[in-house]
Amino acid sequence: MQRLVINSTQLENNQIALTNEQLHYLKRVLRLGDGDRFLAMDGEGKSWLVAIAADSAIILEEVIAQTELFVNCTLLVALPKGNSFDEIVRCCTELGVSKIIPVKSDRTLLKPSPNKLARWRRIATEAAEQSERQFVPKISAPLDFATAVKVVAEENTPCYLSVARSSSPHLLDCLLDQKATKIVIATGPEGGWTPTEVELARSAGFQPVSLGRRILRAITAPIFALSVVAAQSERKTLDKR
Ligand code: SAH
Repeated sequence: MQRLVINSTQLENNQIALTNEQLHYLKRVLRLGDGDRFLAMDGEGKSWLVAIAADSAIILEEVIAQTELFVNCTLLVALPKGNSFDEIVRCCTELGVSKIIPVKSDRTLLKPSPNKLARWRRIATEAAEQSERQFVPKISAPLDFATAVKVVAEENTPCYLSVARSSSPHLLDCLLDQKATKIVIATGPEGGWTPTEVELARSAGFQPVSLGRRILRAITAPIFALSVVAAQSERKTLDKR
């Protein structure tokens, strides 16, 4: 069944007023017509089975699903070169990330243009539809490293800093040792974090962690970290069933 994220402001009683862009997508791209059904999601946890009727969608029933991780994970990701951030947003959305904060670090080469943010949010929406999630992850505007560290440290949740070539404990061991329902993981740029950044994060309460014995690329590190979080989160859930 096709999925489409709508804005909750489009809801009117038992109908969803569709935008021209959504109508074009449903009718021209997907070739759906009046009476055809699709799943509308508000990206904030609610989904409905709906049927197309002219330029709106009639709500038939609310759909209850649970495809979200049991842990709320924010990724703080140093912006990599080129368009690699697109792939990070896509893969980490599929894996269940709650929020991504793009970070400008000391060794970040990229200066993101303002239209990148809109592009990343669009990619997150499409990936959430495709992976059947109820929530579209929030992508914040890029922050510099010190600001991002300060913002997340204020939330008082366990924060981890991935550091290659260190003798830090593995992320999985750290996750197994705690029961927090909200965590933050930071991954660095191609050139790695500078010693000043590692120190800054440590003094803000970040625990340095290893992602294994190999050196992962800046694009692989956040995807691997999220995979570890997802596996750990759902392993526990399966135990409880
Ligand atoms: N050029 C650096 C590595 C950068 S890898 C060097 O040679 O040391 C890019 C980022 O991915 C790092 O900043 C770190 O956050 C993460 N990373 C890659 N491999 C890792 C590992 N084995 N353990 C922890 N973090 C890792």
